[in-house]
Amino acid sequence: MQFKELNVIPEILKALEMENYSTPTPIQEKAIPIVLSGRDLLGCAQTGTGKTAAFAIPTLQLLSEEKAPQKANHAIRALVVTPTRELAIQIYESFCTYGKFTKLKSCVIFGGVSQKTQEDKLKQGVDILIATPGRLNDLLNQKVIDLKHLKIFILDEADRMLDMGFIHDVKKIISRIPAERQTLFFSATMPADVARLSDTMLKNPANVKI
Ligand code: AMP
Repeated sequence: MQFKELNVIPEILKALEMENYSTPTPIQEKAIPIVLSGRDLLGCAQTGTGKTAAFAIPTLQLLSEEKAPQKANHAIRALVVTPTRELAIQIYESFCTYGKFTKLKSCVIFGGVSQKTQEDKLKQGVDILIATPGRLNDLLNQKVIDLKHLKIFILDEADRMLDMGFIHDVKKIISRIPAERQTLFFSATMPADVARLSDTMLKNPANVKI
C-alpha cells in the first residue's frame, strides 16, 4: 500500500516523499479513507503509531479541496485540541511539514507564555488551529478566536485530557463549536468516562483500533 493509493493529493504526496514516508502505517491506512469520506472517527491508538499524520493528512486535504467562501478565507476551519504544550507543538510541526505545499496556514496556542504573539499570529488569518484547552477557552472568552466556520474538530489523547482534569474545558469548547461538523476523537485507552465523552461528541463514527 502507498499513500497514492489512498488518493492523497499531489501537494501532500510531495511533502510525504520529502520526509521519506513511503508507506502508510496501519492507523493511517485505515483512518485516511474514513476521514476523507467525511465520516466521524473514533480512533484508539497510542503515540508512536503515526496517528498525528492519520488525522493531519486528510484534514489538510479536505480543507485544500474545500472552496472557502470569500469571507471565510483563512478562517479557522480545523481545530485540534490536545492536553500538553509539547504535543501541541509536535502536532503543529506535523501540519506545517505535511501541508507545506498547500496554501493552508496553521497556528499553535498554549498557556504559560504571553498571549500577545499568539494573538498577532491569529489576526493574520489561520485555517488550522492547534491548542491546549485552557488557553483556547481564554481566547474564546476574549473573542480573539471565532470558531463559527469550523468544519473539522479533532480531540487528541482524550484519556489523558480527562486524567489531567480538562473535562470542563473540553465540554465548554464543544458547546462553542458548530454542531454541524466532522469530529475525530483519539484516545490510547477507552475507559467508561472516555467512552461516554466520545458518545456525546460523535455521530455514527467509524471505529479504528490499532
Ligand atoms: P505519532 O504517532 O503521530 O507521534 O508518530 C510517530 C512517528 O512516526 C513520528 O516521528 C512520525 O514522523 C513518524 N511517521 C508517521 N507516519 C509515518 C510513515 N507513514 N512512515 C514513516 N514514519 C512515519
